[in-house]
Amino acid sequence: MKTFIVMDLEWNQSSAGKEAAVEHLPFEIFEIGAVKLNEKMEKVSEFHRLIRPCVYRRIHYIISEVTHVTAAELARNGRPFAEVIREFIDWCGDDYTFCTWGGMDLTELQRNMAYHGIKSPFPQPLLFYDVQKLYSLLYSDGKTRESLDHAVGFFSLRSDAPFHRALEDADYTGKILARLDFERIADYVSVDYYRTPRTRAEEFTLEFPSYSKFVSRAFASRDEALSDRRVTEMICYKCHRTLRKKIRWFSYGQRYHLCLANCPEHGPVKGKIRIKKTERGEVFAVRTEKLIGNEEAEQISGKKDEAKRRNAERNKKQPRRTE
Ligand SMILES: [Zn+2]
Repeated sequence: MKTFIVMDLEWNQSSAGKEAAVEHLPFEIFEIGAVKLNEKMEKVSEFHRLIRPCVYRRIHYIISEVTHVTAAELARNGRPFAEVIREFIDWCGDDYTFCTWGGMDLTELQRNMAYHGIKSPFPQPLLFYDVQKLYSLLYSDGKTRESLDHAVGFFSLRSDAPFHRALEDADYTGKILARLDFERIADYVSVDYYRTPRTRAEEFTLEFPSYSKFVSRAFASRDEALSDRRVTEMICYKCHRTLRKKIRWFSYGQRYHLCLANCPEHGPVKGKIRIKKTERGEVFAVRTEKLIGNEEAEQISGKKDEAKRRNAERNKKQPRRTE
């Protein structure tokens, strides 16, 4: 039976600041809460465990303020991470989709698993529903991210259950999910970037009603990624034609690259590439394509002029020798 696993994790961090953090484990999970929903979004089961910390044994003061958990409680009632994870994965079953509030939980879960030498049983790519994003798509602009507290208030779900404990937050998230018009947003899966494609064959494209997203394999550098043809090609996600670019890729600010292509059948398509870091310190590219109107197409050419102007100003300040 197909189910939704709505999960929430609580984690601790180094009390002695970032410098004292253990490599590859900035956050140590100490609590897992999850509810299992059936296809009608009815709760059919719950999972809750405390985990005994083995890296950061002192609770960071902010974490203890937010969660009210104590080191003594975790030492007394917490169980080893590996045991808890095995039980959790068994409890999840076979045919499920993870749902979380925000996009961080699955990354931290896999990071903690890797630290403990537990092989990931999750599919690649790991798709999930970010309920915070779905809520925004239906009730806001799709970009704003509201707190769980806000959404709980919006649907008048507040009960005596405290916030910021894993099972209660998972339960609230499940109740919010059940109240969303799921048909309207079912296509909007998120992809977890903890494990990214290693080979060309593992690269993938996700198609959504109003845009597409391509995720590349890892490259040694940004320049290498941006000179790869699969990264920079533009393909219309409606008709799968390879498109000609009207404005070639240009960097816009530090964060991304833009281009403008044209589909003879569907009109102007905006391309955007973001370069992100992999867990191993390499880079990978996420390219999104979106059909846009003529007005937005004009804006891209405006952005290109703006980027050119800014570059020229930067070069004036730091004169470069001409080749
Ligand atoms: Zn097309």
